[in-house]
Amino acid sequence: MSHRRIVLASRPAAEATLANFRLETVETPPLADGQVRVRHHWLSLDPYMRMRMNDGKSYAPPVAIGAVMVGGTAGEVVESRHPGYAVGDRVVGQGGWQEFSVVDAGPNAPLRKVDASRIPLSAYLGAVGMPGVTAWVGLHLIVEPKAGETIVVDAASGAVGGVVGQLVKTRGARVVGLAGGPDKCAYVKDELGFDACIDYRGKDFEALAAELDAAAPNGVDGLFENVGGLILDVVLSRMNAFGRIALCGMIASYDGRSMPITNPRLLLTQRLKLQGFIVSEHMHLWPAALAELAEGVANGRIKYRETIAAGLEAAPEAFLGLLRGRNFGKQLVKLT
Ligand code: NDP
Repeated sequence: MSHRRIVLASRPAAEATLANFRLETVETPPLADGQVRVRHHWLSLDPYMRMRMNDGKSYAPPVAIGAVMVGGTAGEVVESRHPGYAVGDRVVGQGGWQEFSVVDAGPNAPLRKVDASRIPLSAYLGAVGMPGVTAWVGLHLIVEPKAGETIVVDAASGAVGGVVGQLVKTRGARVVGLAGGPDKCAYVKDELGFDACIDYRGKDFEALAAELDAAAPNGVDGLFENVGGLILDVVLSRMNAFGRIALCGMIASYDGRSMPITNPRLLLTQRLKLQGFIVSEHMHLWPAALAELAEGVANGRIKYRETIAAGLEAAPEAFLGLLRGRNFGKQLVKLT
């Protein structure tokens, strides 16, 4: 039996390109005792993968040249030599950019059985998976929204940002999103229930600051930062004293551009807290986060949107699109 996989062919010099990836067909290895074979139905594409393509200082090691690209997967067990797993079990794991994976299913295995009867399997890679938990952890640990406050989140229509805004509303605070284009903004306001959404595209500092003043007349108490660059500068200039900034992502700089903060003195004068975090370093919070997110998705209170590419071979192009804002909601690849 053979299966297809996508490996890292070369490291990008600046912007990632299709030439950095290679599609291969390989023999699927036989199972040893304690292992399971998983057929992936869904591959998650996430911005962090761009950083794993570089050989630089980061919180996680880079993908080696010639190795399978890392990635979250959702699928089903098709063969098991582990007593805890049966054929047909729906599982979420870190199978990477390939159609099948073989997993050592011990107690510390990165494999989780999920119930796909109340929640669609794909949602376990989005709102009820790593991106949703990221939203929950950044809010819980750092932003801590309180009733009556104003919280801002950018990349607001995306996998993380969309959940951030909906959770903020359940905490009784106002939420203002930033997103690229009128369609994304309409979705953020009308479907996700944000109080306001600013289309940041093509706008300079003054124009964005004026729109933020209108959307957040009492200033900004918390920022869930996904992008960096100009947006961070603008929101920083409108932060209230003792505001909190969760530095979740800086996608605008993942292709290697340097993005300095223009006026860091504001951190001092407004006595702000700015803290980066990595969701996988807060595993003790995952059960509480997943419980709230699963409940919200199952009963329709937490909404999400997906952009779906068809077939493993479509993954590189879809990934490059994600880095350029062409996705609308959670970017997935359907593999079956
Ligand atoms: P999204 O689904 O939000 O997709 C990425 C979006 O970023 C794009 O659609 C685009 O939306 C937006 N974007 C804004 N500016 C740029 C730019 N200059 N270049 C490219 N895209 C831009 O992704 P996720 O929700 O999965 O991730 C959001 C952020 O959260 C990322 O920065 C990611 O790295 C981070 N993250 C951090 C984690 C952690 O543990 N710290 C874990 C998971 C994610 P638009 O068109 O609206 O601008």
